Amino acid sequence: MSIFSKLIAASIPFIPRPIVGYFAKPYIAGETLEDGVRVVKDLNARGIMATMDVLGESVNSREEALAMRTQCEGVLHAIKDNDLDANLSIKPTQLGLSIDLDFFDENIRVLLDIAKGYDNFVRLDMEDHPFTDDTLAMYRSLRRDYGRHVGVVLQAYLRRTADDLRTLMDEGETNIRLCKGIYVEPEAIAFKGRAEVQDNFKLLTEMGVGGGAYVGIATHDDLLLEHGIAYVKQLGLARENYEFQMLLGVRPKRRDEIVAQGHRLRVYVPFGDQWYAYSTRRLKENPSMAAHVVKAILGFNK
Ligand SMILES: Cc1cc2nc3c(=O)[nH]c(=O)nc-3n(C[C@H](O)[C@H](O)[C@H](O)COP(=O)(O)OP(=O)(O)OC[C@H]3O[C@@H](n4cnc5c(N)ncnc54)[C@H](O)[C@@H]3O)c2cc1C
Repeated sequence: MSIFSKLIAASIPFIPRPIVGYFAKPYIAGETLEDGVRVVKDLNARGIMATMDVLGESVNSREEALAMRTQCEGVLHAIKDNDLDANLSIKPTQLGLSIDLDFFDENIRVLLDIAKGYDNFVRLDMEDHPFTDDTLAMYRSLRRDYGRHVGVVLQAYLRRTADDLRTLMDEGETNIRLCKGIYVEPEAIAFKGRAEVQDNFKLLTEMGVGGGAYVGIATHDDLLLEHGIAYVKQLGLARENYEFQMLLGVRPKRRDEIVAQGHRLRVYVPFGDQWYAYSTRRLKENPSMAAHVVKAILGFNK
């Protein structure tokens, strides 16, 4: 990130909420479950699958975590009731991972019981490194009981990830979303260079897809998309055995091209009243968007 971009990213907390809301609009389905359902229906009509996410993370009280769980239960019921081609993604800390492991375990199992009953699926998103071990341990325990109804996320920027993937695959049926990783992590544990992360992403794609894991290749990076497309073609893999994943509002044209080429693609659809924290994170990631926000505030867009 350039100094200018860093300055812009740092200024985001001071930008008025309505302006952040305006620029973040493409990245969030809306505030309500109905908004989420509407967006998923639209994606499904274009032949695109979805994973729904109730916005919220780092929940600190049991009450909040239980309220989040209730909302996530609602998502699973709504997917069933509306016959959507969608599953659920959750952030472990949203359901109490950082409060107490047993408490998280109870909450996630309630969701997985529902998902299994509907023959659906819940993915554990991966948060920052203090939660990696616990999240992977929970995934191991849950997949023993819920099998193909549960999956996890691995981050290519972490130096440990190749070992994690190898171990998970040695132990049993593995379902991962592979992404670069979104948090700012120390160099001691994370690759920092763009090329290093890309190289590890390619290696992990080949390890996972080639080794028989189900991999959601989650990226908007052309280099990695091309690599993934070429690799599944080289293996002659049936389209049911892998998928691409993208975030709502990011590179929709590229997304539609991939679908038109015959690949399955799933869009991450976040919704909920905690849109502000999510949106500022998205804007920080993409300084060109942030630059538009700053220009709008200064009146340069008029
Ligand atoms: C479906 C999905 C789920 C994810 N789940 C997790 C998770 O559980 N844990 C985690 O740590 N990370 C997660 N991520 C985020 C991921 O780790 C990356 O931070 C993010 O995808 C950007 O990396 P990239 O591979 O798209 O490459 P980049 O090089 O960052 O992006 C390539 C191009 O895509 C465009 N682009 C990328 N991101 C944005 C954006 N936010 N807004 C506008 N344009 C953008 C830009 O044009 C950019 O040049 C997820 C990503 C996806 C797609």
